[in-house]
Amino acid sequence: SAQKETLEFQAEVSQVLDLVIRSLYSNKEIFLRELISNASDAAEKLRFESLTDSSLFEDDPELRVRVLVDKDAGTVTVSDNGIGLSRQEVVETIGSIASSGTRRFVEALKDRQGGASRSDSGSDQGGNKDAATDGTLIGQFGVGFYSAFIVADKVTLISRRAGLSAEHGVCWESDGRGSYTLETVEKAGRGTDVILHLKDEEKEFADDWRLRSVISKFSDHIAVPVEMLKQDFRGDEEKEKDADKDKAPEFERVNTGQALWMRNKSDISDDDYKSFYKHISHDFEEPLAWAHNRVEGTNEYTTLLFVPKRAPWDMWDRDQKHGVKLYVRRVFIMDEADKLMPHYLRFVKGVVDSNDLPLNVSREILQHNRKIDTIRGANVKRVLSLLESMAKDEPDHYKTFWKEFGRVIKEGPAEDYANRERIAGLLRFSTTVGEGDEQDTSLDTYIERMKEGQDKIYYITADSPAAARHSPHLEMFRKKEVEVLLLSDRVDEWLVSNLHEYKGKHLQSVTKGELDLGEIGAKEEKEKTEQAAKEHEDLFKRLKEALGDRVDAVRASSRLVDSPACIVVGEHDMSANLARVLKSVGQ
Ligand code: ADP
Ligand code: MG
Repeated sequence: SAQKETLEFQAEVSQVLDLVIRSLYSNKEIFLRELISNASDAAEKLRFESLTDSSLFEDDPELRVRVLVDKDAGTVTVSDNGIGLSRQEVVETIGSIASSGTRRFVEALKDRQGGASRSDSGSDQGGNKDAATDGTLIGQFGVGFYSAFIVADKVTLISRRAGLSAEHGVCWESDGRGSYTLETVEKAGRGTDVILHLKDEEKEFADDWRLRSVISKFSDHIAVPVEMLKQDFRGDEEKEKDADKDKAPEFERVNTGQALWMRNKSDISDDDYKSFYKHISHDFEEPLAWAHNRVEGTNEYTTLLFVPKRAPWDMWDRDQKHGVKLYVRRVFIMDEADKLMPHYLRFVKGVVDSNDLPLNVSREILQHNRKIDTIRGANVKRVLSLLESMAKDEPDHYKTFWKEFGRVIKEGPAEDYANRERIAGLLRFSTTVGEGDEQDTSLDTYIERMKEGQDKIYYITADSPAAARHSPHLEMFRKKEVEVLLLSDRVDEWLVSNLHEYKGKHLQSVTKGELDLGEIGAKEEKEKTEQAAKEHEDLFKRLKEALGDRVDAVRASSRLVDSPACIVVGEHDMSANLARVLKSVGQ
């Protein structure tokens, strides 16, 4: 239907819009990065679809993005000849937020803003930092398009899907206040024009040089050419002479468009890497570390992988997006290539560019591809050694890393059996040595501190750091000064049920089975226990009768010092803590 209709935004959209505008206020210029990144995505999508249907190129095969300024009208237009959107697609992608995580995102943002306004009395610094965090959230959430409303009070989007005819264009328009209009229009060229009607106070963006500098700051690496009108340095008089000649305007490329990962390492500065990271991750923070490698031979590929400084808000979402993009010979193939990185390294961002995969590779092909498996294996090794050297050479960075991603890494030994020893080397724990709850002791440090004669790594799991630290099971260990790892993250039970030893040392729960402190305990302990068992035989018998089937046995033990009694589970039984965890998730 050609008639103009007015539609309401989904409730979430209005909420998100409101928050986007407020929280990105100090990073206004990113609107251009977001729109150019969408335009470039649209170009990549067209390139990909045209592999199987070359008619989509129509008579316009040179993909590009154009940024146009109209100073008098106060508008900035980002125009692409990419895949475009049908009317239905506009309603689905621009008028609503399909993601199930929306609600949580809005909540997360509100929590942070609540926190910010409480703590931000007088300190501008703090406020900006929170805004930056919100910006990070927004980038990861992908409300990029709405960032247009940071600088515009009206946005018009005119689009035509490649493959549809000219009369199937669609015009979407909104002031970002709850509703939008939709109209079928004619559009000769395929692709999308996004026209920003700048707010009065944002008119500074209707300026050629301002836009050029923003583009080279944020979008220089975009592979698709980003063009602006060619600068005309001639005097007014000369220009006027030419004006009536009515020739097509000339454009020039503004971004270098170099695929950074294809350049030689020695030609790339740290700043180049950092800005590339920000570009692909939509993060405001710098990365903690990166690894750039080229592999030659029968399976040729290049990888550039980054470890972020901060965990994304949706790291615990079941369907959290993976951050590695797959390219084949510089052509973008897909985002969220989860076959390139295991789940426990899902925070890693970056690029894999293969020389050997077919261009029309699909998710299905990726599932069973030997080359992909090899790349994935190598990716894991690279990230692990990146983390190993960070732990060794940049302990402060590693601390930050562990705080943000430690609980994810703990999923590693279960998922990646082959690398479990290396992953275990990266783990950090809080222990009975030291006071705080900070997880800062490695298994290697633990082993160095082991008592003479000790051959096991002892740990306790509990549902909080305090419960772990104050467990009566630790009494004997304290007395003998044997260190015990205090595990209270949810994932810890999962970890210890998959990690049974490290460097030949068995991991042993202090709450399970027969506790044998071996040579560490003096012989007299054993004698005392045997004596107690004899002396109190009657008591133990009566207790067992009273408790009946609820216990296997009642016996004397040397594991306690101050407490009179404790409950112990069998070596192969589920720990009491795991039982609690399972119960709490309804198992
Ligand atoms: P994201 O890019 O993370 O998906 P955005 O809010 O930036 O989130 O864009 C939302 C969606 O709108 C995109 O996924 C895409 O489907 C559509 N879109 C936005 N801009 C364009 C464009 N220039 N061409 C085609 N589709 C677009
Ligand atoms: Mg986007």
